Amino acid sequence: MKAKPYERQGRKGVTIHCPGCGIPHNCGQHTFNGDFEKPTLAPSLLQEFSTGEICHSFVRDGSIEFLSDTTKHALRGFHMLPDIKEQP
Ligand SMILES: [Zn+2]
Repeated sequence: MKAKPYERQGRKGVTIHCPGCGIPHNCGQHTFNGDFEKPTLAPSLLQEFSTGEICHSFVRDGSIEFLSDTTKHALRGFHMLPDIKEQP
């Protein structure tokens, strides 16, 4: 699967593994198409790090598109989401 459910402090969402950052991103306030093999999330996924760096992407149909304002890593454009283990 390319997304897995998570629940923290009563909030539910999905987690994807970001191939740019090399870490999972939790998507809590997003609409999710319910497909853990080909996840689509809306709106865009914006991760801000304490360093001020940004990872900004769209997740659609199991792929992730990195936007040009991403500063956390050098990946741009479309990449396949890697498989993510159901249990951490
Ligand atoms: Zn990322």
